[in-house]
Amino acid sequence: MKVLKFGGTSVGTAERMRAVAGLIQAPTEPRIVVLSAMSGTTNALVNIAKLLYEGDTTAGSLQIEVLRQHYHIVARELLPEEAVAAEGLKLVDESFKSIFGLTRQPLSATGEKVILAQGELLSTRLFHLYLTRIRGERAVLLPALEFMRLDADEEPDAAYIREHLARQLAQYPDAELFITQGYICRNVGGGIDNLKRGGSDYSASLIGAAAGASEIQIWTDIDGLHNNDPRVVPGTYPIRELSFDEAAELAYFGAKILHPSSVLPAREHGIPVRLLNTMQPEAPGTLISARTGDEAIKAVAAKDGLTAIRVKSSRMLLAYGFLRSIFDVFERFRTPIDMVTTSEVAVSLTIDDDAHLPAILAELRRFGTVEVDTDLSIVCLVGNLVQEHHGAAGQVFDTLRDVPLRMISYGGSPNNISILINTTDKQRALLALNDGLFRRATVTP
Ligand code: ADP
Ligand code: ASP
Ligand code: MG
Repeated sequence: MKVLKFGGTSVGTAERMRAVAGLIQAPTEPRIVVLSAMSGTTNALVNIAKLLYEGDTTAGSLQIEVLRQHYHIVARELLPEEAVAAEGLKLVDESFKSIFGLTRQPLSATGEKVILAQGELLSTRLFHLYLTRIRGERAVLLPALEFMRLDADEEPDAAYIREHLARQLAQYPDAELFITQGYICRNVGGGIDNLKRGGSDYSASLIGAAAGASEIQIWTDIDGLHNNDPRVVPGTYPIRELSFDEAAELAYFGAKILHPSSVLPAREHGIPVRLLNTMQPEAPGTLISARTGDEAIKAVAAKDGLTAIRVKSSRMLLAYGFLRSIFDVFERFRTPIDMVTTSEVAVSLTIDDDAHLPAILAELRRFGTVEVDTDLSIVCLVGNLVQEHHGAAGQVFDTLRDVPLRMISYGGSPNNISILINTTDKQRALLALNDGLFRRATVTP
């Protein structure tokens, strides 16, 4: 079994969907194809939900109608036979009926999730119709809402997913091609939910792990994971091989090509993940597996929206238990810490979820003086940074000599250096690192 996930741009138009139908051909191997919503759709649905939440039903309804019309055009383009087009338009109208149904009362959090789910439901239903009725292929549409589920901690419930996916697959012992939705799932109460923005990658990895897949392919609009953020830095190039740990760090620390958690299920089950380009299917892309290359620094990524907190206390001097008390506060508020540095009298740490910040700060003040900085970014350098590559850190700091550094974390893992800077300095830092570390490689990729 292989899992192939296609992102928003890859299914963004009727023409792109037709191209995807070509890319998933592999007559002898069972495949589960995971689709995102067509590009722009989830953003449009987020906007609709926001308008309805604010009570602006008129603007909300107008946006819903605009999106419905767009899907009518897509359905007609993708499904050129009249009878099939009529079925497609019916499917589209069913989805939009459920959205319009939510405009009559103030939008709840549950209603919002129902709206957001329509993007993946629409793309997979239309694509399945195209495959089976226009191309005459055998393909099964698997409802992700029947097997993708979160547990009480809002984490994917791996055992439930494995059992229920297997049950779904067992209903079609002769089928070789399955189509399903990325991103959407049910929560522990059975309500419709999702795996957060960009979550279709995570769906693919969870499905791959649950099905014991031999490979997970993430098809997107770029030829693999690049050495630096191509949206910020010119002249980046794809990295051909990354270890699970390296890819996980890059995804978590901002490489948008992968959802932050998406490497974890694949790593746990040792399933290779291949990042491939739908626009250039013959390009080798990036292979993520247990192997690692020998380059000291392979890639850089950056994550914005960080808050740094410093707790200073003379009670920390020569005391034990101080750090535990501090970390305990974050644990109680279920707020993950990204980076930590300590000195004899202070500890600095960063968080990216500041939902409970005021309450956390109130508790931390019991331990000493607390300072807070916002609008920070973590720049994360990933590679094979074992001690033999002892020049690497020096090279990094030399390159960043003109950028004020707020925190530095080195040695936490053998493949990561993290540096905290002001977000206003991010572009400058990424460009400087590109010049200082990768320029030679850019000339001869
Ligand atoms: P999809 O819709 O297929 O999931 P995304 O937009 O989520 O695609 O991810 C692909 C985009 O990620 C690329 O177009 C690129 O702009 C961006 N990106 C950011 N950092 C990186 C990186 N290090 N390597 C490759 N792409 C990156
Ligand atoms: N459609 C969702 C989003 O835009 C999930 C995804 O594309 O991965 O965030
Ligand atoms: Mg994505």
